[in-house]
Amino acid sequence: MTIGVLALQGDFREHAAVLRALGADVSFVRRPEELAVIDGLVIPGGESTVMDKLSRAYGLADPLKAAVHAGLPVYGTCAGLIMLADTILDGIDGQQGIGGLDIAVRRNAFGSQTASFETDLHIPVIGDTPVHAVFIRAPIVETVGPAATALASVADGRCVAVEQGNLLGTSFHPEMTGEYRFHEYFLAKVAATRFRA
Ligand code: GLN
Repeated sequence: MTIGVLALQGDFREHAAVLRALGADVSFVRRPEELAVIDGLVIPGGESTVMDKLSRAYGLADPLKAAVHAGLPVYGTCAGLIMLADTILDGIDGQQGIGGLDIAVRRNAFGSQTASFETDLHIPVIGDTPVHAVFIRAPIVETVGPAATALASVADGRCVAVEQGNLLGTSFHPEMTGEYRFHEYFLAKVAATRFRA
């Protein structure tokens, strides 16, 4: 399987390393034609406003929207989750995303004082061992629409991981902590989907 990693900005190298360790072929995606060779795509953490601007400047945003709509499996972490949300709260003026997940996410929702923190999460679909989750200026999933499923929440109940058909998103960064189970879960989704543009 060839997994694309959106490599416009952010921690795409960390995602590539995890995917390669799991045996996937990795192909960095910066241009629309590079979508043709991938079976799934990871959108990394970073800065969603920058990814949005660059993806539009490179002519990638519309083909990517079409691919997501057609069933391309996509996993987004943090900024990547923001890119996949149908509604972005506290975005900058004119900020757009790719969309696809029936959710509203609020950017930088943990505020500046607790902008970064780590915690252990119990996430049944990932397994019994808790997930050590790192949050860096992370978004919260404020609303989960009927088409999406919440997978995990922090102690106060706010949602931080979701799934919807071909799409998976987490507010935190498994790629930074040696946590491979989300990528494994995503690769299983890709194998089950068998998508090609
Ligand atoms: N706050 C960033 C944004 O709005 C996301 C941070 C991250 O990806 N770690 O895109």
